Amino acid sequence: MAAYAKIVVNRPIIQRWRVPDGQKSSLELRELADTRLKTFHYHIPSHLENILEPGHLVSVPFRHQQLQGVVIALSDSSPVEKTRPVEAILDSQPLVSAIQIELARWMAREYLAPLSVCLNYFLPPGANRQPVTVVEAIADAPAAELTPLEQALLIFLKQQKKPVSLEGLEKQVVQSLTKKKLVSIRATLSKPKVGPRVERSVELLISPDEFDDVLTLLGYPSSQAAVLRHLVELDDPFPTFKAVKEAVGCTDSPVKALAEKGWLEILPAQTFVAAKPTANQSDFPLLDYLQQTGPTLLDALSEKADALQVLLEKGLIVQFDEPSRLTLRLLRENVPDAVIQLRRTQRHAAVLDLLATEDGPVWIGWIYAQTEASLKTLQDLSRVEAIAFDEARRWRDPLADRIFTLDTPPTLTPEQRALMNVILPALDKYGNPFLIHGVTGSGKTEIYLQAIDRMLKQGKEVIFLVPEVMLATQIVQRVQARFPGKTALWHSALSPGERFDTWERVRQGDLPIVVGPRSALFAPLKNLGLIIIDEEHEPAYKQEHAPTFHARDLAIEYAKLKDIPLIMGSATPDVVSYRKAERGEYHLLHLPNRILAHKKHLAVQEMLLSRGVGEQGSRGTASDKGQMTNDVVALPLPPVEIVDLREELKAGNRTMFSRLLQQGIEETLKAGQQVILFLNRRGTATFVNCRDCGYVMACPQCDTTLTYHAPNQQMVCHYCGYRSGVPQTCPECHGKRIKYFGLGTERVEAALRRRFPYARPIRLDQDTTRRRGSHYTFLQHFVEGRANVMIGTQMVAKGLDLPLVTLVGVISADTALYLPEFRAAERTFQILTQVAGRAGRSPLGGRVIVQTYTPEQPALLAAAEHDYLSFYGDELRFRYEQGYPPFKRLARLTYSAHGQEKSQAAAQEMADRLRLWVAQQGFPAVEVIGPAPTYVQRIRSKYRWQILLRAPNPSQVLGPVPLPLGWKVDIDPVSLL
Ligand code: ADP
Ligand code: ZN
Repeated sequence: MAAYAKIVVNRPIIQRWRVPDGQKSSLELRELADTRLKTFHYHIPSHLENILEPGHLVSVPFRHQQLQGVVIALSDSSPVEKTRPVEAILDSQPLVSAIQIELARWMAREYLAPLSVCLNYFLPPGANRQPVTVVEAIADAPAAELTPLEQALLIFLKQQKKPVSLEGLEKQVVQSLTKKKLVSIRATLSKPKVGPRVERSVELLISPDEFDDVLTLLGYPSSQAAVLRHLVELDDPFPTFKAVKEAVGCTDSPVKALAEKGWLEILPAQTFVAAKPTANQSDFPLLDYLQQTGPTLLDALSEKADALQVLLEKGLIVQFDEPSRLTLRLLRENVPDAVIQLRRTQRHAAVLDLLATEDGPVWIGWIYAQTEASLKTLQDLSRVEAIAFDEARRWRDPLADRIFTLDTPPTLTPEQRALMNVILPALDKYGNPFLIHGVTGSGKTEIYLQAIDRMLKQGKEVIFLVPEVMLATQIVQRVQARFPGKTALWHSALSPGERFDTWERVRQGDLPIVVGPRSALFAPLKNLGLIIIDEEHEPAYKQEHAPTFHARDLAIEYAKLKDIPLIMGSATPDVVSYRKAERGEYHLLHLPNRILAHKKHLAVQEMLLSRGVGEQGSRGTASDKGQMTNDVVALPLPPVEIVDLREELKAGNRTMFSRLLQQGIEETLKAGQQVILFLNRRGTATFVNCRDCGYVMACPQCDTTLTYHAPNQQMVCHYCGYRSGVPQTCPECHGKRIKYFGLGTERVEAALRRRFPYARPIRLDQDTTRRRGSHYTFLQHFVEGRANVMIGTQMVAKGLDLPLVTLVGVISADTALYLPEFRAAERTFQILTQVAGRAGRSPLGGRVIVQTYTPEQPALLAAAEHDYLSFYGDELRFRYEQGYPPFKRLARLTYSAHGQEKSQAAAQEMADRLRLWVAQQGFPAVEVIGPAPTYVQRIRSKYRWQILLRAPNPSQVLGPVPLPLGWKVDIDPVSLL
């Protein structure tokens, strides 16, 4: 039995260089890789013996705090003699599997991040609890012994009745109270930020004829009710008032109250007179009378008082007292209702009645909605065993209100079939990952779907990675249509509650397909059988902040550890991936032809467009493929025409639309078809400058220009968020000729409306789609034909399958090409290929018009020819010459600090030390380049420097190197900007 747990503690790690005194030339490096991966031993207290397991989230004492930690192993021994105990288990089930722990370790080693940070990715949302110190009152003291402040605090703490966070309390006062042993201070962990929405249901345990019995037991004590109940139970319809009072144990007043309500009658106490049977003298008329009528009320004979007196004295009559009696006026069957009312158990009754009409358990939310019951009402009922509670989770489901049309798989085309024949037999275990190079619309997604199908049939689970949230919502639609109720949409834009619940449902195995961006890799799937990576080349797979992991590389490692297959696909594979595929590291597959499968769908769309209205809940594009297999034909990729904007200028056209594009837009719109106008994201900025002196408005904190935002008429810095108004005159020369320069989607829209009044444009960019879910709405709007021109940035380039789009115009292809970025050409090629892929996805055909000032760019020409291999050849040559990936791997160290000179000096010192370290260790083929200022050198008034490391294995070189405050490391950066 293991006595110790090896725990990764969630603690901050501070790194420093240690330079032995006076020995600038020799560096002593602590084994920092170990610091990041360090674990601590704790002993397992007896109450956790045989319970604690690897993967458990625990709370442990660490120095003077309680910290959260993850158990990564159990052990029989500890390297240190004195260990502290594990304090508590924070979630009853282990949260991280052995393989996930392995993966987190790989991540920590590879991306030089603390293991605790990497492990945190696998925990449920909100599980990250912070250490807090709490204070609690534990004793009292005479006021005289306390200062007024101490007194006040002590009273406050006592009133709280629970521990209070030390934060915000006067620390000195707390301390003096602690010394006096009046309060205790304790380190603990904050509460989780989200939790399950546990909502309960209740079930009826009794039959309706038992309701009355049960209800009379419930509610508030009521003597009136007790009297009524007593009266119904008696056989005697006229019990005496006194007997009832004694039996019930009440005073007169409840009875009188009942009488006032008319529910019973109080028969008053009365005195009767009657003739004695022995009396037979006939000289008294009154006696005669009494003998005939029988006992008579004394009060009725008040006029004969004298005569009565005589008879009484003679002993001829008797007088007797009849006690006050009660009798029920209420019909017996109405008594239970009266009791309910009196005991105020109407609510209980209503609940029972409601439950009687339902079959089985009823969600308590429904009960609250239908009755006036409260939780107390239900608890009362459960106490008398009329109902039973049942815990049931109510899931917060981001897909809840989406409508999906069930989709049946189409018969595969011969090309797809050939691919499946290779993939299917390999789906059982890890082999080289598959890389499908298939043009847009070649049917890659269909391959993924059929592979998923195979997995589900084997009871296995699938992670389906997409580059970004926006694509996730589209793909999830197709996946959900094929596998209804099995798909989890997994991304950070969900509400905390939705994320928590999705996590929990995935852990329970309810949702075997997880679709999402890179974080989907951390889904708690127990039976993962396949990972799919769509659009494998997308830079969005790389996390920009630490740990800067690449989801593709992490996924490949995961698949390897887990021994499961992996399929990735792209129309424009990453040059590095394609090279790996060429060298046999990946299994390369091709889908060179586009599928046309739109005849029916197109008919629907055309109809919509001619009506100019959308169909409610319009179908996803994948909905009607089942019957369409006979229509499948290969479709040529659309022709791409390149327009030289310099020629336009020469011809006197100063508008943003070349003559060719103008003509194209006009023809397309007149034909009732749709247009996409694309702007490169980096080309969307609109600057403000002065025509007289050339002044450009720049951010005061960053070395970058401010961009103009029309919606709120502001100038904004995209790095730090600085905002300012738009100047009316030039701040430099006070000139009035302020000009807006550059292109934004808004300006394109304005220009389009001017030139084509009949255009119905919508803009799809980060500004318009910032609101959650709005992206989906926008697309739907366009799909339904309510708009005929879509203007947008990167977002319009991806994934859309829009058969009525027959023209794609690229407003300017150049912007990305000029950036000092080794992947600039690759990005340009990818984005142009993708955006071109949006055109001509139907028998209507299509064309692409690309405007540029540099028509001779090879990447542009290759994209125009749809020629990946020629682009790849050129690019590979360039990368080889420049020593860039795939030939060398890079690591980028960036430093950011205040002060131009200070930051440069610090960067220089780091570069020197790195060079020394590399030389000392004798690492082969490692180069340290820099420091150099970054592309935008100043952000938020901090100066930024970078050092590049070129090495076969950068993490190995940098692993032991301390990265002091201000430094960041990025292994395999996707961008050097
Ligand atoms: P990709 O993922 O490569 O862009 P998709 O899988 O989205 O391609 O396929 C493009 C279009 O062709 C989609 O509308 C899809 O439903 C359809 N499609 C794919 N495979 C077939 C098939 N075998 N038969 C009919 N239609 C198909
Ligand atoms: Zn700024």
